[in-house]
Amino acid sequence: MICDVCHKNEAVIFQPHSGRSLCKDCFFNDVKERVRKEAEKQGILNSRKVLLAVSGGKDSLVLVDAISSFISASRIVAFNIVEGIGGYNRAEQAEKLRKYMETLGVQLVSTSFKSEVGYTLDEMVRSSEVKGMNVSPCTFCGGFRRKLINNAGILYGTDLVATGHNLDDEVQTIMINLIRGDLSRLIRLGDVPIKVSGKFVTRVKPLRKIYEWETTMYAYLKGYSFQEVECPHIVNKPTLRAKVRDLIYSLEEERPGSLLKILEQFDEISQKIRSNASFTELPRCEICGDPTSYGRRICKNCELLIRSGLFSREYQKYLPMS
Ligand code: SF4
Ligand code: ZN
Ligand code: ZN
Repeated sequence: MICDVCHKNEAVIFQPHSGRSLCKDCFFNDVKERVRKEAEKQGILNSRKVLLAVSGGKDSLVLVDAISSFISASRIVAFNIVEGIGGYNRAEQAEKLRKYMETLGVQLVSTSFKSEVGYTLDEMVRSSEVKGMNVSPCTFCGGFRRKLINNAGILYGTDLVATGHNLDDEVQTIMINLIRGDLSRLIRLGDVPIKVSGKFVTRVKPLRKIYEWETTMYAYLKGYSFQEVECPHIVNKPTLRAKVRDLIYSLEEERPGSLLKILEQFDEISQKIRSNASFTELPRCEICGDPTSYGRRICKNCELLIRSGLFSREYQKYLPMS
């Protein structure tokens, strides 16, 4: 079959949401152009410097490839975190990542939970289990990852921090916040970033309109060597996110293009809600100084460390009543 765009090359991809068959080059161009449009809305094109959070997974490789194709490598800092999860995101992966960034001329900075927080993710999870806490490893992982990425954005003086969240991730997040009724988080999502704290470097997601299957195919067709194993924690403990993921996959299979439509509709609604909302500065955690949710004295990360017994007992007094 011939490509529906260039009408020259053999098509290798069928895009259910557009109904088109595309050759390799037209597929790469299509993805990059959609990323460029989002990046423009999110202020990346005009930023002085942007930090790209890279895990070594397919999404992060596509993120760096796409962004470095329209802004100069000197305006990019790639940032990698080794969480300390047995059998996952190992040191060899970080080394592969470093070599790949070198070929793009992008500076790569690496750090780990162990060196920044004092514990690997596995150590935090074990301690929480010993204390009988029923907290998903992803809650620890996501919270500390956000903290480290933000700190790195401040340290390297970037205007923005970008993550490789794709369309599937974004729609899952919207659904989860809807299910939990978390309106304050919900309206922070949207195609134009908002700033809720002077201590937060604005977070953007340039891949938010790219399907996960597209980042997988992009990485595969580019021949990237990326981490394909799934994190053992998501395998061991299916979270609400994993359940929502299964649900939206079946929806997309039945009605191709549904996820894009959900996100586009959501962006419109979010714009309307935002235009009537006022955002006040978030309070600061009394222990680490990071922004925390309204009505809280300490941040969720500090609370998790206290509850897991990994912070000195003197901090117990800060625990919210439960
Ligand atoms: Fe972290 Fe959860 Fe992702 Fe594993 S699945 S890397 S624990 S967020
Ligand atoms: Zn083509
Ligand atoms: Zn804190």
